[in-house]
Amino acid sequence: MIKKILIANRGEIACRVIKTAKMMGISTVAVYSEADANALHVKQADEAVCIGPASSKDSYLRGDLILQKAKELNVDAIHPGYGFLSENAKFAEACALQGIIFIGPTIEAIKAMGSKSAAKQIMQKAGVPLVPGYHGDDQNPDLIKKSANEMGYPVLLKATAGGGGKGMRQVWSEAEFNDALAAAKREAMSSFSDDKMLVEKYLTEPRHVEIQVFCDNHENGVYLFERDCSIQRRHQKVIEEAPAPNMSDELRTHMGEAALKAAFAINYSGAGTVEFLLDTDGSFYFMEMNTRLQVEHPVTEMITGEDLVEWQIRVANNEKLPKTQSELKMHGHSFEARIYAEDPNNDFLPATGVLRLLKTPITNAKVRVDTGVEQGDEVSIYYDPMIAKLVVWGETREKALARLETCLQHYAIGGVTTNIDYLRRIAGSAPFKQAQLTTDFIERHNDTISTATNVDVDTYLPAIALGYLLSEQKGSEDDLRNTAWNTHDNYRSNLIHEDSIELLVNDKLHTIITSMTSPNTWVLDTISKQHIVSGSLTNDTLSFTVNGLKTKLPIMFNNAEISLFTPQGMLTAQIKAADLGEIGDDDHANSVVAPMNGTVVALLVKAGDKVVKGEQLIIVEAMKMEHSIKAPYDGTIAECFFNTGDLVSGGVPLIDITANDTE
Ligand code: ADP
Repeated sequence: MIKKILIANRGEIACRVIKTAKMMGISTVAVYSEADANALHVKQADEAVCIGPASSKDSYLRGDLILQKAKELNVDAIHPGYGFLSENAKFAEACALQGIIFIGPTIEAIKAMGSKSAAKQIMQKAGVPLVPGYHGDDQNPDLIKKSANEMGYPVLLKATAGGGGKGMRQVWSEAEFNDALAAAKREAMSSFSDDKMLVEKYLTEPRHVEIQVFCDNHENGVYLFERDCSIQRRHQKVIEEAPAPNMSDELRTHMGEAALKAAFAINYSGAGTVEFLLDTDGSFYFMEMNTRLQVEHPVTEMITGEDLVEWQIRVANNEKLPKTQSELKMHGHSFEARIYAEDPNNDFLPATGVLRLLKTPITNAKVRVDTGVEQGDEVSIYYDPMIAKLVVWGETREKALARLETCLQHYAIGGVTTNIDYLRRIAGSAPFKQAQLTTDFIERHNDTISTATNVDVDTYLPAIALGYLLSEQKGSEDDLRNTAWNTHDNYRSNLIHEDSIELLVNDKLHTIITSMTSPNTWVLDTISKQHIVSGSLTNDTLSFTVNGLKTKLPIMFNNAEISLFTPQGMLTAQIKAADLGEIGDDDHANSVVAPMNGTVVALLVKAGDKVVKGEQLIIVEAMKMEHSIKAPYDGTIAECFFNTGDLVSGGVPLIDITANDTE
């Protein structure tokens, strides 16, 4: 009987597991790195124990240490969450040796599915359909290339140890093959310490449809329907939904049964996901099986009403599955949007910083926010930059989607750049509404979804000016307990005090003449219009009335900047343009710079080389992903400042290029 669980993970998934454990009356132990000492999962657990420095390899990946703590604290079972040790057969084995239950499948099943190529061989034997390709042990590059040539391009190279889209490259012609193989191998080596590759036919318009399976130790198995995860960027899921739109009951049964066949082929137990590519003609192919709980499991919970973590714990307790196939029913539609600290306007580079403002939509039975952070927490460089998962439910896809859009409008995050606006643009786009789901959705509709939404400045400028006036007033109240209001005789004598504010928004300077007419009420004159505004500031919220219309919006003050979180997105104004000069220095005006902190993994040019616009110059690895930095124009390399292996900080010049004369 499991009475105490240690969660060998952090962030939202640790909090998610703690929630169900509490509901089941099971006590919880959190583990944390030094960087996470004050993290939400630590606060929520009954006990918490430090397992080392920030870097994952010294903490969350230290299976030995985690197990030692589990022993010391008399833990019955370890829940690994996803990522970190969740698919590590050695760790599962070590748990078994210590008599601690690993909440997951058997060691053999993890091993069998741990390599994409070995998994394919097993599935082939079991009669599960596969994408045509080469997944053999012989890694001779010429052999891999030969099978690619025979299959015909495009092909997809995949690291057999891969996950999260890492170590994966599309290859569109034989000419690109060698470079792509080298890059995929490098990425695989740095992410998984294993550069074994497989190659398969690249389907150009597939959907990613995956089946949630569950098995117990009593030979029972069910599938909890499917999730459509076709909305991906660089093979990483962005928005997921359940059920998959336009899926016939017949196809659902067919795929569900194929997934169970896959699970039974490896004597599966616990939660698993069988990922398929679904082609336009309705044929589907096994891609891989994830032997753990998936990030996107909440959409399945929303449409089935089941708690998958509870199922995991019950199966680990040797109980039978809570339901049979015929007892499982789907109801309604659910979406999950992954909110990341990243910059969609700068190649989606992971963003870091303190979450100075964090307001989520109101949660209820139809809206769920799974997160591991609170306002004031820091998003650091050490871990995955996911901030939260926003999960919604509706009776139909249309209703669920409308709810997703509203909730994204009410999600306000300040201090760290996020993808919220980007998610809104996807959710609001016509092809998404029409469920035109293919894995190349984002590339295909890039023009529609990558254009930043413009917040209507004229509508919200008066509110920002009001926010500024109220904060100034509050500041002087706090400082002096003696406000301008109290000391000025102007109002009392009916001489209205006039002032002016200069706000810089999107590179445009707006001058606003302000006159206070009564406490907390001003008349604002912009060039085009006069507004009467009034309001108050409490807990990062500006409650305001502009020309009689009352609204409440989150607001954030940061030195000379004010950000207002409007339903159209965030609007930031800088106060007084005069203070904002001197941006950067000109010494390296001809340089390409490091996009973020990282390591140089390949320097492809040297001083004196002639380069053409778009040519790869240097590859920097950051957050386990390679970022290829290309020549911004034709020119000659003047100087390279770093070598392979060097650590670089975000923003430093990497290479100087002298542009060719344009004459
Ligand atoms: P990872 O384990 O790294 O996430 P997967 O094998 O699950 O890698 O593939 C991730 C995504 O890559 C899929 O969801 C799909 O969009 C795309 N993909 C994988 N294999 C193919 C293929 N053969 N043809 C087209 N797209 C593919």
